[in-house]
Amino acid sequence: MNFLTKKARDLVPYVAGIQPNEPNWIKLNTNENPYPPSPKVVVAIKNFPLENLRLYPPSDSTGLQNAIANRYNVSPASIFCGNGSDEVLALAYQTFFSGKTVLTPDISYGFYPVWANMYDVNSQEIPVDENFKIGVSSYINAEGVILANPNAPTAQALSLAEVEQILQNNPSGVVLIDEAYIDFSTEKSAIPLTEKYENLLVVQTFSKSHALAGQRVGFAVGNPALIEGLQRMKNAFNSYPLDAISQTAAAAAISDIEYWDAMRKKVIATRENTRTALQKMGHKVLESHTNFILIKPAGPRFRTAQEWYEHLLANKILIRYWNKPRLHELLRVTIGTDREMEAFLQCMKQ
Ligand code: PMP
Repeated sequence: MNFLTKKARDLVPYVAGIQPNEPNWIKLNTNENPYPPSPKVVVAIKNFPLENLRLYPPSDSTGLQNAIANRYNVSPASIFCGNGSDEVLALAYQTFFSGKTVLTPDISYGFYPVWANMYDVNSQEIPVDENFKIGVSSYINAEGVILANPNAPTAQALSLAEVEQILQNNPSGVVLIDEAYIDFSTEKSAIPLTEKYENLLVVQTFSKSHALAGQRVGFAVGNPALIEGLQRMKNAFNSYPLDAISQTAAAAAISDIEYWDAMRKKVIATRENTRTALQKMGHKVLESHTNFILIKPAGPRFRTAQEWYEHLLANKILIRYWNKPRLHELLRVTIGTDREMEAFLQCMKQ
């Protein structure tokens, strides 16, 4: 007997990068931060009053909501917190896009088609150009727009003026900008535009620039009416998605701007050094606005990207390779520490 519903049987789940259980792997496959979270996070968790774990946490993550609002100079009513930005995005699909036709790039975050399928969203995929750039003028009069900016796995970014052009051309649907990697870009966050455009929802995460992937915290910023919609959806699914320790840890992380700034600058510097070294070896590397790079590896040592991937794997270096149209000649490599990138570069020598 198969007890699964038809929907459950037919689902095609998202395939995340491997999390190996053994030590000695160099892990450059899931865009985690190579540095630890802020020392203030460590203190906040150590000082957390464990006896309070008997209580449910604040259902809207009030303390964290205030900390994020402070950081971005918006009202707490404009902030929604969730269990990783994956949960925030899944709730946004249900709240704003179910049953609608949305525009989204053909190459983007691999979870988007999974949610589209799960929540009956008709995703119209617009091809990025041969340089992996998003053609802003193709996004017009949509019932919804979903863009990662910077985009993944392309590492390309739109300017704030281009994001605003999309907002002006799409006044009657929600425009969702997933800014998981914005802190590694020279382009600016669209958060300030949420006060001007009632249909803009910006989603960010603590998993990348704040080095808290293991804590699972993400948030959305938008007009209070959009945020109230997300809360309705959350309260119909799980009243307390974010645990008390996560709320405390993330609030400490976002209040330590100096540490955050130093770590993201270190990652950016290593990224640029890695790009230069790879280019000297003859590999092509796209400009990057993220904490990862997209490489088109060159021969003669190996003929295909897949062979390079397998060679790195044999050397206990995990990166990402997709055997998919438009991506099968490319490798996506997360920026690690300088030492990790040195080991990676050794393996990429011709
Ligand atoms: N958006 C993009 C573009 C991502 O690459 C990721 C990380 N895989 C996420 C959202 C989700 O991140 P998290 O759930 O850890 O916040």
